[in-house]
Amino acid sequence: EKKELINFIHQIIEDDNKTGKFAGKVHTRFPPEPNGYLHIGHAKSICLNFGTAKKYNGLCNLRFDDTNPTKESDEYVNSIMEDVKWLGFDWEERRYHASDYFDQLYEYAQQLIKKGKAYVDSLSSEDFAKNYKGTPTKAGKNSPFRERSVEENLDLFERMRKGEFPDGAHVVRAKIDMAHPNMHMRDPSMYRIKHAHHHRTGDKWHIYPMYDFAHGLSDSIEGITHSLCTLEFEVHRPLYDWFIDELGVYHPQQIEFARLNLNYTVMSKRKLLELVEEKHVDGWNDPRLPTISGLRRRGYTPSSIRTFADRIGVAKRDNIIDVGLLEWSVREDLNKIAPRKMGVLKPLKVIITNYPENKEELMDATNNPEDPEGGTRKLPFSREIYIEQSDFMEDPPKKFFRMGPGREVRLKYAYIIECVDFKKDPATGEILEVYCTYDPLTKSGEDQTGKKVKSTLSWVSARHAYKTEVRLYDRLFNVEDPSDVEEGEDWKKNINPGSLEIIDAAALEPSLAKAEAGVGYQFERQGYFTVDTKYSTADKLVFNRTVTLKDDWAK
Ligand code: ATP
Ligand code: MG
Ligand code: MG
Repeated sequence: EKKELINFIHQIIEDDNKTGKFAGKVHTRFPPEPNGYLHIGHAKSICLNFGTAKKYNGLCNLRFDDTNPTKESDEYVNSIMEDVKWLGFDWEERRYHASDYFDQLYEYAQQLIKKGKAYVDSLSSEDFAKNYKGTPTKAGKNSPFRERSVEENLDLFERMRKGEFPDGAHVVRAKIDMAHPNMHMRDPSMYRIKHAHHHRTGDKWHIYPMYDFAHGLSDSIEGITHSLCTLEFEVHRPLYDWFIDELGVYHPQQIEFARLNLNYTVMSKRKLLELVEEKHVDGWNDPRLPTISGLRRRGYTPSSIRTFADRIGVAKRDNIIDVGLLEWSVREDLNKIAPRKMGVLKPLKVIITNYPENKEELMDATNNPEDPEGGTRKLPFSREIYIEQSDFMEDPPKKFFRMGPGREVRLKYAYIIECVDFKKDPATGEILEVYCTYDPLTKSGEDQTGKKVKSTLSWVSARHAYKTEVRLYDRLFNVEDPSDVEEGEDWKKNINPGSLEIIDAAALEPSLAKAEAGVGYQFERQGYFTVDTKYSTADKLVFNRTVTLKDDWAK
């Protein structure tokens, strides 16, 4: 019998279930801070947290880690919910906010003060960091405020809460050990003064809890069993455990996994925000960004992202995933489901001189060769058609099998045509028109001539073409790791100036005038395309290229 390979987190859960550590329960959470839009790295965490809960018949909460009022907003909260749903996950009624716990967290801090495990420190953060904290190899020293009495600490803490002091006047610190080998254990701050409006609690609070204090205790309040987070929090785990143990409350298990890193892009929210604010991109949902909303606008399907998350797996060591793997996942998904269409991106007119002026025929075209139920559609054919400019060469080299003077090619679903002449702009050398003749006996499906040609071209009837804008995307950065720049250099210096190409008038088959948003179409030989949800209007659809048909990047 074949044993299923499971990741190390699921192994821990199965071991816990055997020992009864959490009474067989599995309860995870996805805890975004609403300070930006979600990206593909978050998708990994979403798939892991919701997927794990599903696999073990457990629950997964959506928790907003909203403890930094100045950076957070309802816009971000709403975008996060939209993205999680779009990915196919449902938190049902289990949506929580760390801000729901501000009263409880305040009480927890009071308890620690009463226990002699926390104090109000009146050193400035800069002074503390510079003169007291020490370094990894050198012990720190105690703040002169460390031995304040419990009464004084409680009084100051309450007055901090009431807003009596300016920002930065005091902080509340955990009283742990200023010589601890783990710097995070050297009296870390739990609360800071911040006179800021919070998007949910308004002006009620003048103090806000720090992440390390709020996060683990929020997990505890919600009864989380396995708190999955990225590797950089491994060094915070002793602190996570310390708060919970000192308070004697329910204790979830924090488990760290490697974050997703992708090449040719950035994933820090600070950097994404910078790209958006400085208008290097067209909003958080720019199709070149690795944000979930950008990938959606680009034409990625939720299932392709879930498959990608599965495929990269969860590991204990950081690595960098090739963005080609993400592209491969969407290509594979769309290949199965995308209706096939004809689309000529850079049209070159071909005139079939022996085809009657006013005649038109409807050719049978297969909707999806991967789908036996896909059926066919009618493609109009007439005397003037468009082919791709790159499918014609005036003086083709040996290996080029497409159209050239004297050459014969097949027009897919239609006839074999032979190039008899062409017209060129003498000044620029640009090919303006190509003249061909067709062989009426070679109609696809009825051809008895036995004629063989080396190439089949896609085409669109000129008279029937839906001429519209198509946007092609390339990598946003020219280098694998855009963040890897010298100190003092702008990390944005490697932005690819050619990452967006706008084609004003591609020639598409007429049925695409009724293309639906959210559907991926394959333009034969070109790639996968979808309707852009930002620039399309009722009478003019704009298309985004999701991905090319083959990975032509690596060549
Ligand atoms: P940033 O550092 O860019 O602000 P963050 O990690 O602080 O990102 P959060 O909103 O706090 O962003 O993240 C929510 C959850 O998603 C966290 O549990 C975090 O560990 C996880 N996460 C964030 N980025 C990644 C990533 N690249 N790969 C896997 N998980 C991630
Ligand atoms: Mg963050
Ligand atoms: Mg975070």
